[in-house]
Amino acid sequence: MRYVTYNTSTIYNKSITTEISDDFRAVSARYPVRLTDYYAALIKRPADAIWKQCMPDVRELEDRSQCPDPLDEKALSPVPGLIHRYPDRVVLLVSNRCPVYCRFCMRKRLVGNGDAPMGKNELRGALDYIAANPSVHDVILSGGDPLMLDDESLTKILTGLRAIPHVAIIRIGTRVPVTLPERITPDLCALLKRFHPLYVNTHFNHPDEITADSGAACALLADAGIPLGNQTVLLKGVNDSVETMRSLMTGLLAIRVKPYYLHQMDLVRGTAHFRTRVSTGLEIVRGLRGHISGLAVPHYVIDLPGGKGKVAILPDDVEIRGGTLLLRTYTGERITYQDITTPQE
Ligand SMILES: *Cc1c(COP(=O)(O)O)cnc(C)c1O
Ligand code: SF4
Repeated sequence: MRYVTYNTSTIYNKSITTEISDDFRAVSARYPVRLTDYYAALIKRPADAIWKQCMPDVRELEDRSQCPDPLDEKALSPVPGLIHRYPDRVVLLVSNRCPVYCRFCMRKRLVGNGDAPMGKNELRGALDYIAANPSVHDVILSGGDPLMLDDESLTKILTGLRAIPHVAIIRIGTRVPVTLPERITPDLCALLKRFHPLYVNTHFNHPDEITADSGAACALLADAGIPLGNQTVLLKGVNDSVETMRSLMTGLLAIRVKPYYLHQMDLVRGTAHFRTRVSTGLEIVRGLRGHISGLAVPHYVIDLPGGKGKVAILPDDVEIRGGTLLLRTYTGERITYQDITTPQE
């Protein structure tokens, strides 16, 4: 894997050269910086949408208002490396590394801190916990990025999960198709295919991330029979416009990825400069629904603080007056609709 190298004074690769300022150094000492050659090459100019997602910003250190773990993941962790918030599904944190450390990451407190993947004992403990809880039907591999593990470690984890009869589906959350598409190899796809039903949720945030390479990586996964979803984070100055979101969401469908969630930015310390108002998110959803393919419209969700879970929110398009609904169409027209029931009622 090839990473952009940066020495003490400049960060450099084919596409960018930038001074390593004192601010850069201070931020990266607290929140690690890493980018791939591939991802850095997507930067067209300083402060564009790709740059903002991966280059450190001094505002990360200035934001003291938020909590490092607002979703209370620590409290919901019965054994190390496992988060159990909903009755039927758990998240396994199998890696704390990523090809690129996104500046807005919700697990900013964890990623890049030490390079060790989940240890052998932790994995055993997590598998034992899942085996002892028959209500768990859906296991989500996350991190960090699970596809930063080598094929052997991945096989070990997936084999362990498939040995538990009540685990119906396995999901992998990964930004590797976006930031390090060369990791998606035919060998990796052949490996993953052995563990179906297996889903991959990837993480595209901007149309500039949809390239021949990331498209080819998604095609390899899709050809292995893996349904592909996408989780986008709504980011100020990156993708907070209807036009950008339309282009992103329809572009994803064209590479066989189904938009799944649009996330309101979590209240995580060090990320405040990326946060938009919820009203902005609602306006964007209103600009998608009906205007582009319904397949391209994600659920807009707020992941509530305190581990209360995700809540999907919609623009206010319905008013109920007894048996009459006043509905707002995608063009803004007001239409009444009779909620007709059977005569006996
Ligand atoms: C998001 C999340 C899930 C998965 O939620 P879905 O709505 O099923 O995609 C599961 N556990 C935790 C802790 C989560 O944050
Ligand atoms: S790839 Fe995901 S886990 Fe890794 S830094 Fe980016 S948002 Fe965080």
